[in-house]
Amino acid sequence: MDIVVLAKFVPDIDRVPADAWDRERGTLIRSRLEMAFNPLDRVALGMALDVKAAQPGTRAVALSMGPPSAEAMLKEAVAYGADGAVLLTDRLLAGSDTIATAYMISRAIKQMERSGIIGPEFAVFCGMQSPDGDTAQVPAQVACLLDVPLYPYACGLDADADGIEFKCLDSVGFQRITPGDTPFVVTATRLYPDLPFYVDLASMQRANQTPITVWGRDDVELDDERIGLGGSRTRVIKIFEPEKRHQAGEALLSDSDEFAASAAGVLKELKASFTSAADDDAAAGDAGAAVEPGRSYYSGDCAALCELADGRLASVSHEIMGACARMAVVLGSRAIAIVPCEPDDAIAEELRAFGAQQAVFIEGQDQTVFRVRERADAIVAFLRERRPQMVVAPATLTGRVLAPYISARLDCGLTADCSALDIREFERRGDVSSGILFQTRPALGGNIMATIVSVYDDPASGRPQMATVRPGALPVRKAPADACEVVGFCAPGQPRDFGDRVVIERQGADDKQIDLEDYEVIVCAGMGVGDREMVEQAVEPFRAALEGFFGVPVGLGCSRAMVDAGVLSHSHQIGQTGIVVKPKIYFGLGVSGAIQHKIGMENSQTIVSINRDPSAAMHSFADYAIVGEIRQALPAIIAAMNE
Ligand code: FAD
Repeated sequence: MDIVVLAKFVPDIDRVPADAWDRERGTLIRSRLEMAFNPLDRVALGMALDVKAAQPGTRAVALSMGPPSAEAMLKEAVAYGADGAVLLTDRLLAGSDTIATAYMISRAIKQMERSGIIGPEFAVFCGMQSPDGDTAQVPAQVACLLDVPLYPYACGLDADADGIEFKCLDSVGFQRITPGDTPFVVTATRLYPDLPFYVDLASMQRANQTPITVWGRDDVELDDERIGLGGSRTRVIKIFEPEKRHQAGEALLSDSDEFAASAAGVLKELKASFTSAADDDAAAGDAGAAVEPGRSYYSGDCAALCELADGRLASVSHEIMGACARMAVVLGSRAIAIVPCEPDDAIAEELRAFGAQQAVFIEGQDQTVFRVRERADAIVAFLRERRPQMVVAPATLTGRVLAPYISARLDCGLTADCSALDIREFERRGDVSSGILFQTRPALGGNIMATIVSVYDDPASGRPQMATVRPGALPVRKAPADACEVVGFCAPGQPRDFGDRVVIERQGADDKQIDLEDYEVIVCAGMGVGDREMVEQAVEPFRAALEGFFGVPVGLGCSRAMVDAGVLSHSHQIGQTGIVVKPKIYFGLGVSGAIQHKIGMENSQTIVSINRDPSAAMHSFADYAIVGEIRQALPAIIAAMNE
């Protein structure tokens, strides 16, 4: 087997200069950014090299689409052990969105096969996402365009001369997957060990002597309608700074003599604000001004692609259903739910409460094993028949692979991880179009917000406007529909058998899927807490004491660093790639306050930060900043609660 390792040359998002954006075109000026090997693609290269070591004869070839300067990164890939590298570079390809990028990459892979760089039995290994766009769309779209299975979120590998088994994350634990047919696409997560930092001199010499194959637009069979900015299905129409919501409070020192008295004072204030705080659903009705009948550019239903967890609707389904219902009112259209299970009256009734006028059940879905291609194809069959004007999906582990696969099948744009959706008028080339879905999301690691629209040159194409929404990002408010019709949909044809074997491993009871966004008080453990033992010895007693103090259940969240370290599961993660929470009170314990974490919790009504570093970013936007050691501060606050 040959392995194509996708390697993206990405900007260092921790050092983005203010003038790096072309605000007119909504694109990045990459020459003003420091660039590097996408960290997760490096991990994927490591995974490919592990297969190569176990199966002599396997070749790994890196493929990048990017500027000519990406050649240096490809040399690095060869120095690490790749057998060769291909760079697809051309000014005509610049400005591509994810669907145009995935198209060009899939065509380049086909060209590699045609020109004998790889054989017909190959696999594509890549990082699950890159830090600049952070959309996680391209791997699923490449898999769809190659028409091959996708095994997402690999965090482990067992390989020997006879075969390969991937250990992949899923929403309840892990799947152990033995791929059947080639080709296939597999994506790597941060849980897979990264490559060593250095390579030896001999490897560097080998890299210098290995020529990189450089292709331009004319070296690959490409349809001009589908490449570059012109071939993109989405347009960035506005970029702006994220809003600042909290002012820093006065810092309290946990090792001072007065701390016990200050902690008691803080607790009293928190109790008062907890009791008086209103539920924040003010924004729930703002989906835009009603569009006059007949003036809307698109027509058709507003569809929420719902998700189930343990046989019941995941709470993010309420959010996206509510959002679709609000937009349907503005557009004068119908709100429908798409649910991947057998028809169920109770689920339809639950969705009716959030505005669903019709619940369409996609029948014949395997509820134990989630196969992206099978699920996506059944939903696509329905979407092709019904032609809704928009499809909103959750940005969960499952939704983040399902939605891009669907968008590639329908050849439509997709905006990932939106934090706001509105219906607005939009003027382009002198034409004003009403009823356009404005999709707003954080970009460049949360350094900037971008509003995006789907390209709508051809309404007859039946391409819907598509977006995913981060759990917790949108307000949840019940607005019952008069009735919710139950419809069963059976996709025509048999699902294709790829011969893969999947074994499910559920995680422990405390690692099961949790609905963190439902809690009024959240304790969030960061790397300052560090390990499982500290979670049990310091954080859990603190959480239990808070439950007694406020008289409500207290949720346990964490930063991504804690997930990456394997201390807590992804369902606890707050932030850009986790859940958005808006509790009445948020306690950050040893959380630095990185921008990607902040955008997942800054809408909390009151923020308390406990961190030993007085200059920690989290202190700068916390209402109460407690400077101190976790081990010292938490028992002192518990003592104050007990008093
Ligand atoms: P660290 O950065 O290691 O900070 C630990 C903090 O604890 C420090 O401030 C330190 O002073 C303090 N500390 C250490 N020891 C103690 C002690 N004994 N007592 C008190 N304080 C102590 N992160 C997220 O959280 N959520 C996301 O969704 C997310 N998405 C991301 C998406 C992208 C594309 C990228 C590039 C990054 C993302 N990150 C996300 C990662 C983010 O950039 C940070 O790396 C992460 O939030 C850091 O976690 P942390 O604050 O727990 O750890």
